[in-house]
This record gives sequence, structure tokens and C-alpha cells, in this order.
Amino acid sequence: MSIAGNVGLPDLPRICPLISRRVQSSVVPKETRVVQVGPVCFGGARPVVIAGPCAVESREQTLAVARAVKAAGAEMLRGGAFKPRTSPHDFQGLGLEGLRILREASRETGLPIVTEVMDTRLVETVAEYADMLQIGSRNMQNYPLLIEAGKSGKPVLLKRGMAASLCEWLGAAEYIAKEGNLEIVLCERGIKAFPAGEYSRNVLDLNVIPALKEETFLPIIVDPSHATGVASMVEGASCAAIEFGSHGLIIEVACEHEGTAAPKCDAAQAISPRTLQNIVRFIDTRTKRSFVAAAF
Ligand code: PEP
Ligand code: MN
Repeated sequence: MSIAGNVGLPDLPRICPLISRRVQSSVVPKETRVVQVGPVCFGGARPVVIAGPCAVESREQTLAVARAVKAAGAEMLRGGAFKPRTSPHDFQGLGLEGLRILREASRETGLPIVTEVMDTRLVETVAEYADMLQIGSRNMQNYPLLIEAGKSGKPVLLKRGMAASLCEWLGAAEYIAKEGNLEIVLCERGIKAFPAGEYSRNVLDLNVIPALKEETFLPIIVDPSHATGVASMVEGASCAAIEFGSHGLIIEVACEHEGTAAPKCDAAQAISPRTLQNIVRFIDTRTKRSFVAAAF
């Protein structure tokens, strides 16, 4: 009996037949789908590490972080040009200028970019610059946005809504798939559940990884930065996510040296390039271990 069956989830093969692993059909692959973003493969043998600043704040900051995460072993660059902020008075991102900076950082480092799109009117523009579109937690059920992201044909990183059930999350992915776009990677980023807020920003739901793997062939990654909100928890959360079978991580990083200002956005959860390197080494060792185990 499947995990879903045990806990009485809704009928997912009916709700999202295009991305269900359990639908019997010759056109739906049963194996995990490998979603390719340039040279990067999500759902392959090795977990993918995406890293970068929370927000693109300046050219200098973004280039410095991009170089540092590349040197630490990240394979893709993240960074928000359009930021969803709780207060409309806070820094909202550099917009188009931010996209241009990301492009420059990508060209210099060779790292493909993932960046958030929040507005249907901007999907085309963001898709011109980004290698992968990010749909943020707050927009997971913005159906017109999901449809436009699907139509763009670009790979999509679909973050879990902060209070979304597995069914709602996969339903959202199905909207993208229905537009003929199966290049979807799911991202668990912590949910609002007791005791979120008391000692961490959210609650990292690692249980959802094996549950999702039963229901869908889409790859799933974890964002330990927003899930914890606390820099000192990010390395442990990253390693735990990998042990739970995550196909990758998306991590916020800041470069701190003299004369550098603290990030305007999510400073408390940004880790150093050195900590990122530890996480990449953990993945290296674990991947080698599983190759050896597979040989026996
Ligand atoms: C982000 O990754 O920049 C972000 C805003 O995350 P979330 O949508 O998960 O809050
Ligand atoms: Mn952030």
C-alpha cells in the first residue's frame, strides 16, 4: 500500500494525471523525470546545488556571490530581481536591471540562472533572461501565472505554498504540465505549522519528499534557507534533506568581508561560501558512497 493510501490522501492520479507516477499510460514515464537546465540535470544520480543571494541588490554583490558559489561547487545561480516582500515599503528588487546583472553573472561563471517571476505580464521578459523560472511560495496557486509559465516552455521551479497540501501543490504543477510543459522541479521550502516562528521561520517538511516520490515522477528539491530562516540550521537541514532523498538544494549565500553591507533581504538565513562548500562536500561523499553501494 502506498504512503498516500495509508493516510487517505485524495485521488491524485485523477487530479493530476499528467504528472502522476501512478497513472497507467504509455505516454507517462514511470521513472523520475530528468529535468535539464542547460548542463544541469535535476532527478539524475547526483543532487543539484543551486546557490546565490536572496535578492540581486547590486552588480558588485551579485558578481561576488556568483563567483564564490561557483568556487564552492554550486551548479546553478539563484537571485531575485523581483522580490515578494511583506511590506511594500521594503526593497522590492532591482527589476529589469537585476535581470541584466544576473545575465552578466551567468555569462562570467557559466552558471545557469533561476529567478522568480511574480506577474503574468513579466513572464516573457523574465524568460528571456532566466534559464529556469521560479514560482514563489506566495504564488503557488496563482493559476494564470502557472499557465503563462507553462506556455513559456522554460523549466519551472515550483515552490510549495507555505500552507499547501501535497494535493494542492501537485494540482499547481498540473496547471503547468497542462500547457505542454513537463520541465517542472518541485521545491519544499518549509510550511507554516506549529511551532513555526518560535525558533525557526518555518517547519521543514522532509516527510513530503518520499510521499511526493510515490505520487509523481517530477524531481523535488529543498530550500533549507527559507525552511529554517536561521543560518546555523542550514547545513544540517541540507544534509537531512539529501538523506531523505532530495534531488537538490536551493540555498541563500552572502559574502561577508570588510566593507560589505549585510544583505537587505533575509540576512539571518544567508550562509557563507565556506558552509556551502561543506554541503557540497557532503553531497560528493554521499554520492560516491551510493555508487559503491550500487556496485554490490
Ligand atoms: C525566494 O526563494 O526568493 C523566496 C522568496 O522564497 P519563497 O517563495 O519560498 O518564500
Ligand atoms: Mn530569501
